[in-house]
Amino acid sequence: MHYKILVVEDETDINALLADILRTEGYGVMQAFSGTEAKLLIEKELPDLILLDLMLPGLSGETFLRCIREDMHIETPVLILSAKSALKDKVELLKAGADDYITKPFEPEEVTVRVLAALRRSGKKSGSCNVLRYKQMKLDADSRVVTVSDRELILTAHEYDILYLLMQTPGKVYSREKIYELVWKGGYYGENNTVNVHVSNLRKKIKEAGADEEYIQTVYGIGFKLG
Ligand code: CA
Repeated sequence: MHYKILVVEDETDINALLADILRTEGYGVMQAFSGTEAKLLIEKELPDLILLDLMLPGLSGETFLRCIREDMHIETPVLILSAKSALKDKVELLKAGADDYITKPFEPEEVTVRVLAALRRSGKKSGSCNVLRYKQMKLDADSRVVTVSDRELILTAHEYDILYLLMQTPGKVYSREKIYELVWKGGYYGENNTVNVHVSNLRKKIKEAGADEEYIQTVYGIGFKLG
């Protein structure tokens, strides 16, 4: 899998340096030079990780972080880059949803090690970590087995694919069109009811297995999300 990393840094030389370090490691890089630009990029394509400078013109790094976590419900790991080294700031940022902290000036190796660690923690690293969890539900991507409270769900291939998609990014809203495109691999969605029917079957199966609440939420006028 090819990981995409978004670098948000207004100083062009530091932004370019980070992009170089990451490209050398084989990552895809998206570059933003302000918080506003980063927001626009994220709305178009969700990266696997974000490297975020704090002192940005306009929308500050702190505000951007709160905005993606609280308003956009994006769970993508965020590594903060900043010259600020006071412990108080670190604690505040971790509370606001940052995953780790890199203090400037940094060594290239520190960046690559922390990026790798953050991707691994978020379950993005391929290999041994192919189990996704949401509340009492567990999905093992190697065996394609899904359980709720250890009771296995008997799913069709399309139901499994929808669940796998939603479980990778809980909180992220997928439109019916997007789900159709990703699960049925293209084709015109049009007016048909396919996704609704599959989601409704999934909900029934999750409930029958013993979930005590609705896991898949309908977002009115848009689509579906997990949680
Ligand atoms: Ca800066």
